[in-house]
Amino acid sequence: MTDKAAVLYMVIPCYNEEAVLGETSRRLLDIFDRMIKESLIAPLSRIVFVDDGSRDGTWEIINELSENNESIRGIKLARNAGHQNALMAGLMTVREECDCAVSIDADLQDDIEVIPEFIKKFREGCDVVYGVRNSRTTDTAFKRFTALSFYKLMVSMGVNIVPDHADYRLMSRRALDALSEFSEVNLFLRAMVPLCGYKSDMVYYERHERFAGESKYPLKKMLSFAMDGITSFSITPIRCISVFGSIMCVISLAAFIYTLCIKFFGHTTAGWTSLMASIWFLGGVQLLSVGLIGEYIGKIYKEVKRRPRFIIEEYKK
Ligand code: UDP
Ligand code: MG
Repeated sequence: MTDKAAVLYMVIPCYNEEAVLGETSRRLLDIFDRMIKESLIAPLSRIVFVDDGSRDGTWEIINELSENNESIRGIKLARNAGHQNALMAGLMTVREECDCAVSIDADLQDDIEVIPEFIKKFREGCDVVYGVRNSRTTDTAFKRFTALSFYKLMVSMGVNIVPDHADYRLMSRRALDALSEFSEVNLFLRAMVPLCGYKSDMVYYERHERFAGESKYPLKKMLSFAMDGITSFSITPIRCISVFGSIMCVISLAAFIYTLCIKFFGHTTAGWTSLMASIWFLGGVQLLSVGLIGEYIGKIYKEVKRRPRFIIEEYKK
């Protein structure tokens, strides 16, 4: 445990968030003041808004905020790169200046009152602290069901993911350094961070409603995000093709015996037996072949990601 106050950088991606920025910065500055007074964080700590190519007055507001307050900074992306990319841009820009960084959405739906707990866990030696929702009362039943099914599906496909954790988390500088080694383009941070390893812990919190503005994640975007998450982390869907192909081949054998029985003991039209047997057999063989090609594509996919093969935690000499 270190007693030194940590330099904390808050990283906040913003896309068309002019309606919330004033209130968000007020609330964050307030909790910063309190944490600085308690010597939890150093006065050098900063709030960094990342403007993700907004089309409204978001950047003008960020500009004004940063001019009036030295704790606030702004990064402007040249175009809308998407939430995950904006977050990564912010984290990678600040990583050399901070001891730890906390990422949070601009609408502060995630409870900022638990940030002191994040910092305490960081000072106790955790490199990653995941913010986990302890209830989903503010979500609709549909969202609750789809989110739960999604986490279950991900886990069943071998992806290491923390249920009910989105992108509200603290990462230490060395965890950020590890994250910087991941050169993949399709980002799904909530599954990438656990791959960094290091000691982690969770902090539970209540998720609020968005206090102003509207969600930038409509259902269509959410589905494509989920699809991205699966296809960026698992080749299980490809394996399913091979398994299905093998099952088809076995069925084709049964179908072959069945068609022969009908041919000899029943009544069939000429050509039916050979047709039936070939349809099943060829179907099975084709699926199996696609699955086999898929295995190689899966390998290529893993290679092109160029993920770090290992991350060294300590080297004692
Ligand atoms: N966001 C972004 N770029 C985008 C879409 C969203 O930076 O293309 C940001 C947005 O400003 C917010 C965060 O991502 O800070 C999460 O979005 P939102 O709160 O609308 O999602 P929800 O909470 O409804 O899932
Ligand atoms: Mg939100």
